Amino acid sequence: MDWRDGSLCLREDPDLFFPVGNIRSGQTALQIDEAKAVCRRCPVAEQCLSWAVDVGPVEGIWGGTTEGERRAMPPRTMRRPTAREAAA
Ligand code: SF4
Repeated sequence: MDWRDGSLCLREDPDLFFPVGNIRSGQTALQIDEAKAVCRRCPVAEQCLSWAVDVGPVEGIWGGTTEGERRAMPPRTMRRPTAREAAA
């Protein structure tokens, strides 16, 4: 079984996880918050975030993080996060 099989986002509109526009604008920021709220409840958030970090630059919300947030992670945090860290 692949970790993706447990993804909560499989039950959501995929567009929710790929916000378009200025991430600081009202509507886009709300969309990001809504996507992150799904990720916080997701049982495979750790695997998802690890995948996104391992793959490199990838658009969208993965493991509760935006592309910019992943890019800003210092190298020492590029490890598999604990479930608690992924849900934060
Ligand atoms: S952490 Fe978020 S993006 Fe990743 S599988 Fe879960 S719901 Fe989808």
